[in-house]
Amino acid sequence: MQCNYSIVIKGVVQGVGFRPFVYRLAYKYGLKGWVLNSNEGLKVEVEGDEKRIFSFISDLKQNRPPISIVESIDVKKARLHRYREFSIRKSIGKGRNITLISPDISTCDQCLKDVMNKNNRRHNYPFTNCTDCGPRFSIIKNTPYDREKTTMKHFVMCSECRDEYENPLNRRFHAQPNACNVCGPQLALFKNGKSEKVKEVISTTVRRLSSGGIVAIKGLGGFHIAVDASNEKKVKELRKRKNRPHKPFAVMMSNIKTVEKYCVITDKEKDILKSPRSPVVLLRKKKGSKIACSVAPSNPYLGVMLPYTPLHHLLFKRGKFDALVMTSGNRKDEPLVGEIEEAADNLSGIADYFLSHNRGIKNRNDDSVVFYLKDSPTIIRRSRGYAPYPILLDRKLEPTLGVGPELKNTFCLAEGEKAFISQHIGNLENLETFEFYKEMINKFKYWFKIDPQIVAYDLHPDYLSTRFAKELTGVKLIGVQHHCAHIASCMAENRIKKKVIGLSFDGTGYGTDGRIWGCEFLVGDYNGFERKGRLRYLPLPGGEVAIKKPYRIGIAYVLYLLGKDRLKNELFKGIDSREIEVIKKQIDRDINLTWTSSLGRLFDAVSGILRVCSSITFEAQAAMALEYEAKDTILSPYDYEIVEKNGCFIIEPTKIIEGILYDYLHNINRSEISTRFHSTIIKFSKDICLRIRRETGIDKVVLSGGVFQNRLFLGGMIDELSNAKFEVFTQRLVPPNDGGISLGQVMIANARLH
Ligand code: ZN
Ligand code: ZN
Ligand code: FE
Repeated sequence: MQCNYSIVIKGVVQGVGFRPFVYRLAYKYGLKGWVLNSNEGLKVEVEGDEKRIFSFISDLKQNRPPISIVESIDVKKARLHRYREFSIRKSIGKGRNITLISPDISTCDQCLKDVMNKNNRRHNYPFTNCTDCGPRFSIIKNTPYDREKTTMKHFVMCSECRDEYENPLNRRFHAQPNACNVCGPQLALFKNGKSEKVKEVISTTVRRLSSGGIVAIKGLGGFHIAVDASNEKKVKELRKRKNRPHKPFAVMMSNIKTVEKYCVITDKEKDILKSPRSPVVLLRKKKGSKIACSVAPSNPYLGVMLPYTPLHHLLFKRGKFDALVMTSGNRKDEPLVGEIEEAADNLSGIADYFLSHNRGIKNRNDDSVVFYLKDSPTIIRRSRGYAPYPILLDRKLEPTLGVGPELKNTFCLAEGEKAFISQHIGNLENLETFEFYKEMINKFKYWFKIDPQIVAYDLHPDYLSTRFAKELTGVKLIGVQHHCAHIASCMAENRIKKKVIGLSFDGTGYGTDGRIWGCEFLVGDYNGFERKGRLRYLPLPGGEVAIKKPYRIGIAYVLYLLGKDRLKNELFKGIDSREIEVIKKQIDRDINLTWTSSLGRLFDAVSGILRVCSSITFEAQAAMALEYEAKDTILSPYDYEIVEKNGCFIIEPTKIIEGILYDYLHNINRSEISTRFHSTIIKFSKDICLRIRRETGIDKVVLSGGVFQNRLFLGGMIDELSNAKFEVFTQRLVPPNDGGISLGQVMIANARLH
């Protein structure tokens, strides 16, 4: 029977080859009709045999383009029009239609087959791509996404590529970066800033890598620095050259089999590794691995990704190495390097050789990083493969810019139901990074045609993002407290409308009382939060300087909470007594102290007391070291008190520190002490949640802030709260660390308007 069905597909369905996909499906099932983009989503009308239409729809659902996000598919029977053909119609839209930009997508299986097939014209061609894969965001200069508006503009397609590009039934129909060896980008080698004349570029690079060479390799979003991950000496050498003593390096492994050889991996983790987004996944190392210890020193996890461009695949196919360190090509704290000229300047002291190419990178973009806990993902860095796709919201926002925090910065530009969070920008303190930040804000405004009327900023007066916001004119400026922004960010991605108990646990955030917060129990919604609980304020000697030396925090907390007679000699062995004297004076006279309720700092203090980590070279190192000491279990917690003051529950940690001190001085092993410490904070957090529920009846608990990157703690909190019949929400789409702050800022700022 001949029928007409009208279909509306909602979600993120633009710029991902959805229309040609529908066209090819219609052709496959012999259906007539049309497909077009509209403000409401993708609209399709199909006519033909009803059974065939149903097959078409189920195929549509199962085989949708890899990184499209389908929110809903609405199917309705309609009147017959007796169309003669199936066509792709021009977009329609009343009012303004925000054009989306697809993230970069890892090489698809079909393209990989082309590259590896001797008889294919793209055999060994490192820039092979199609509508399902390849560069997108990284090559875009302007919207709408069209070859002329990308860095592919200068490459004129040969007739064969053009035929593919123009044929709606071809997989490369309107694949903007479509290219081949005849007409497309080419690889080139450089050494000491000069190009090298080498016939076999890939083989030469593989040879260099195999013999321990450190090679800068231009990828999708910027340069990586690569070295054989099994070569201990060379990995150490790279650490020296990068001035990065401890922070883990990511590795790229040849395939899933290799990953299984070196790491413990679940099916979910395999899926995300092989997915079009292809992030770095943190996996538990297996014992006796060939991977050099200095890749991730004193760390039970390894950040692993799979090859995601044809070039990566070709390197691994020719090379005998299982794994390459693939760390961001940048100098410490600077943004990723995008082009060879810059690489030659900035990375000359780091890399021996450079493997580059002439496909330009317009928007630099780091690798994304995720981990899984009981099959549920947490994204630590949302960048390549994710940005600049929007987070879809449950409400309509005014045009708003959230300028984000200082560290791990992202910004968020939102309008209507879409929040565009930038790729990972980094640490704004660095001048180059700050320039990159401003450049990306301008680009986002231009591409998505959002002219923010509201600008939301963090209350910290010294954040460069805050200063940047305050210099803007003609906009409404709204300050948003850091920890409220964390909770709002988690609420936004979980689309929570009701009031929640928000546990906002991190290292540093400026409070409304001018103190540094970081262990906050916030009750409320976007319209406002009440601070219903916190850790007691404790003194940081010398403020931020102490963070670099966790034992100083340990000394200060012991002195302040327990008094000076408790600072036994055996406790801080090897530390200059003058340093201890100075801290004593600071505390006695209250000079140069920063008062903080930060949970991150409590971790640091315990890490310092136990001498798990005495000085750090990257953020959260001491807290991570303490987590890795602990066993994956719950032990009896240390004692603590909760005092109620003006309706706020304050955690009194004196007995916790006392207990830890006692155990430490009685030679209880650190692993047990650390496990008990974790159990303690889980217990007091749950205790306060129970008290708040008794008072308010609220049973939704939202977890956010950098401390929730601690797997032992996150898992323990979810278990304990769920057992107590709380409904627990965590971040999965946006980082719980400061990378998620900008989303929370736009949500709160909009609520404040009304
Ligand atoms: Zn492909
Ligand atoms: Zn070509
Ligand atoms: Fe934070």
